[in-house]
Amino acid sequence: MVVAGAVDISTVKAAIVEKVEDRCDEWFSIAKCFYDSPEVGLQEVRAAAVLTAKLETEGFEVRRGLAGLTTAFRAEWGSAGPTIALLAEMDALPGLGHACGHNIIAAATLGAAVTLRHVLPTNAARIVVIGTPAEEQGIGKIELIRAGCFADVDFAMMVHPASKRQVIKMFLGLARIRFEFIGKAAHAAAHPEEGINALDAVIQTFNAINGLRQHLRQDVKVHGIITEGGSAPNIIPERASCFFYVRAEDLSQVEEVRRRIKACAEGAAMACGCRLSVQEDPRVLAPMVINRAFYRLYSKQLEYLELPEANAPIDRNMGSSDIGNVSRLVPTIHPHVPIGTGISIHTEEFARATVSEQGRAAVIEGAKSLALTAFELASCPRVREEILKEFTAH
Ligand SMILES: [Zn+2]
Ligand SMILES: [Zn+2]
Repeated sequence: MVVAGAVDISTVKAAIVEKVEDRCDEWFSIAKCFYDSPEVGLQEVRAAAVLTAKLETEGFEVRRGLAGLTTAFRAEWGSAGPTIALLAEMDALPGLGHACGHNIIAAATLGAAVTLRHVLPTNAARIVVIGTPAEEQGIGKIELIRAGCFADVDFAMMVHPASKRQVIKMFLGLARIRFEFIGKAAHAAAHPEEGINALDAVIQTFNAINGLRQHLRQDVKVHGIITEGGSAPNIIPERASCFFYVRAEDLSQVEEVRRRIKACAEGAAMACGCRLSVQEDPRVLAPMVINRAFYRLYSKQLEYLELPEANAPIDRNMGSSDIGNVSRLVPTIHPHVPIGTGISIHTEEFARATVSEQGRAAVIEGAKSLALTAFELASCPRVREEILKEFTAH
């Protein structure tokens, strides 16, 4: 059904729900297909091929390979009206498969975009599906923004699976820093006086950061791993390295704590007599900008679908995502669709849940909610104005 002229909102909404249900096996099969052959960030070759082929068949104009990322893509349909981007994350986690449920995101986004294409007149909105690789590495959306792929986008949206149905959830800003210490190898028993122990510098860095924790703001989180710590106990480690994430509610605090952590490593290098090289990732993940008017529009669709939201705090158990960077550029929503109570994200159990009956329900809920929200955005100038007013005032 294509709606022309005066739009009867309730008729179209009913058509959206019906069309998503008509093809729900097809959308869920995408989530299952990605689950069966998970691909980590920047290697989402099959996933991008499956999504772009499907969108092309449905009449979307597809561009593959954007911003120097071979698995990024953009598929467009529609000739006029607001440009509404539906984002498709596709990457899995190393060793854990789709333990963040990005297979559900891609399937829901595809279902929503194809449904809109069959329901809207071509001049109602430009529906743009953006394939955003490597969310787990915090790369895809930042590079796509830098390359101007969001320049003509008016509104952006996606859903993410979680243990609860939650419309608003905040994200912390995040910066990354790597340290490499260079010392001097020596026999650990026979000639230790000739060695300079790079692993000691790593350990002292961790200890200094742990001392710093007492003085950090409550919202600040610092966590790190040792990425190299020597090759054998009887060799003084010549080279050792570590990798830290710094998170906080605002970017100035993220940068301030990153600076203090760097000072911890510099102090450790000096104490141990090592050379230090520092790598600060210029890609910083921004905290999520919450647009309440936009989220209200999504909540309205949940009410329409009779799907009650969980009563969960929006500022606990926060992670970070490159969707935060998109939210600073254009009004953006990132609601959670439930795939099973009490299941923790980034676990094998979570990956299995994405292909369970609840995973199927999450794909259908996501496709319906996104399509309904996009439809109302496209058909209600007043709602768009309200969202943009809030965005500009931020
Ligand atoms: Zn994740
Ligand atoms: Zn995720």
